[in-house]
Amino acid sequence: MNMEFAIEELAVLIQKCNRIVCFTGAGISTDSGIPDFRSPDGVWAKNRQILFDEFMSSPAARHEYWRQKCESFHRHGDSVPNMAHRTIARWEEHGKVAGVITQNIDGLHQQAGSRNVLEIHGTAIEVMCMDCNWRGPAEPLSRSFLETGRVPSCEQCATGRLKHATISFGQSLDEAVLNDCKCLAESADMVIAFGSSLMVEPAASMPLFGLNAGAFFAIINREATDKDAYAHLTIHGEISDVLEELFVCWGGRDCPADIE
Ligand code: NAD
Ligand code: ZN
Repeated sequence: MNMEFAIEELAVLIQKCNRIVCFTGAGISTDSGIPDFRSPDGVWAKNRQILFDEFMSSPAARHEYWRQKCESFHRHGDSVPNMAHRTIARWEEHGKVAGVITQNIDGLHQQAGSRNVLEIHGTAIEVMCMDCNWRGPAEPLSRSFLETGRVPSCEQCATGRLKHATISFGQSLDEAVLNDCKCLAESADMVIAFGSSLMVEPAASMPLFGLNAGAFFAIINREATDKDAYAHLTIHGEISDVLEELFVCWGGRDCPADIE
């Protein structure tokens, strides 16, 4: 299907649906200056991944983990939501979007105003103690690491191992969050995937729970994804371009006319 026609169809579907679930990956945040993992200058091209077991057992691995996290904080800590984050928040405000399931750890959906956000891979905005479960904001600890080069210790138990509240490689996902994502997806009348290669499991299967429960499934991504074969509608393009075209279909508004 040609892109113009596909976007017109998307515009009509969004107008019809009232329980849309947005599934988002790293591609929704690249316009905010945060690279995705697979790009040539992405994180995976430069840094050795610290596995969860290594983090837990080795002080040297914890230091390298904090160095990598703080390098990323230093580069992207002041990133702000872009038009796509803001549009999804606005659709939620107007009762079109029931919620967001995100693979991202950057907190930009909440910063844009989205309220019902399920973070399947956790959040880098907070740290948590692996020993006593204390949680607190990551920012002051990242600044302290950048100044002193010392891995911070837990404010509650003093000796605990502090890690960002993200799911590391080799760490299990939170079953309760996964279950909430599945329920949200199954309640959708439409699932739109934005900027995800849909390769990272089990996250990438979340849209399929919606599809299997009868939802319409649309994908917006720069390139083909692992789940294109399952989608009713695939649009290969830049998210910002696709949204601009969508707004043209709605007469220049960022929401369909009926919810103005
Ligand atoms: P990914 O890197 O596998 O895929 C991102 C996809 O988005 C790619 O297919 C890419 O072509 C596409 N893309 C990039 N910019 C785009 C744009 N402007 N418009 C349209 N498409 C665009 O990312 P993923 O599937 O989300 O999975 C990687 C993992 O890395 C996830 O688990 C995620 O948690 C994590 N991650 C998070 C962040 C973040 O929080 N911002 C950043 C990097 C990686
Ligand atoms: Zn502690």
